[in-house]
Amino acid sequence: MTYFENVQQLIGQTPLVKIQKNPFQEKVTIYAKLEYFNPGGSIKDRLGRMLVKDAIHQKKISQNGTIIEPTAGNTGIGLAMAAIQTNIKVICVVPEKFSQEKQELMKALGATVINTPSELGMTGAIQKAKELQLEIPDSFCPMQFENEANPRAYYESLGPELIRDLNGNVDIFVAGAGSGGTFAGCAKYLKEYYPSTKTVIVEPQGSILNGGNAGTHDTEGIGLEFIPPFLDESYFDAIYTIKDVDAFQRVKELAINEGMLVGSSSGAAYEAALQEAAKAEAGSNIVVIFPDSSERYFSKHIYDYK
Ligand code: PMP
Repeated sequence: MTYFENVQQLIGQTPLVKIQKNPFQEKVTIYAKLEYFNPGGSIKDRLGRMLVKDAIHQKKISQNGTIIEPTAGNTGIGLAMAAIQTNIKVICVVPEKFSQEKQELMKALGATVINTPSELGMTGAIQKAKELQLEIPDSFCPMQFENEANPRAYYESLGPELIRDLNGNVDIFVAGAGSGGTFAGCAKYLKEYYPSTKTVIVEPQGSILNGGNAGTHDTEGIGLEFIPPFLDESYFDAIYTIKDVDAFQRVKELAINEGMLVGSSSGAAYEAALQEAAKAEAGSNIVVIFPDSSERYFSKHIYDYK
């Protein structure tokens, strides 16, 4: 018999797929880690699983407690998915602007969604989550933007998978950053394995890593308004700040050329991976992370971006 005991067992072990229409394929190979194959549809299932496990093991709440988390959506989906085998309730605090599809999915998985004004950004959602935690008894706010469990989730699962998938031959690692957990955890793991791995962080315009001011952007899931404490800048071997139009253009190309149906943060990461490929040493392997799928952005006309 081949079956899984529960859907949570499907988290991780996502496929790594070679890009076929790589304009630099004569000298460089690009591989995409398709994180939309996780059961909740994104990379954040890995974090949700870790946060629920920590909350229980570290006795942050009782078995019947409440987890409250500020999220752009995917962490909320991951938390709600992970909490299904428990009696833990999940409240997601989401800035209004984030996609309806993600908000519907959180609710479908049993979470409560509380919206905060878009203009207050993620900082507004963080503030609201902290207030709720004080009001609700037996509650815990994992706070992905401060919690070392966030990079740890990726250090323990995604990083080792990348090394295993390519027999250790990861020369350049490219990932977008929202909380920075994916990047921080994988970059640490990869550098420990092989210190000369180049680790490349990607943000949209309107994010602060390259010294710009925080502002609005349509690329969803990445972009920082502040630098989380676990995001060690010594791992930033390169920073790419990608325009929305370029991210969405790459989303279209990935569908038509590769059959990969990805969200805009994947498009931004792919644009950065191509810019790296253009100047990489011959024989390099580039790994780029594709965090989620386009299907949760149809209400935002992801394939008709103007
Ligand atoms: N892409 C998408 C679609 C996301 O939802 C997120 C998480 N906000 C990221 C990328 C970035 O992941 P991280 O928070 O680990 O930096």
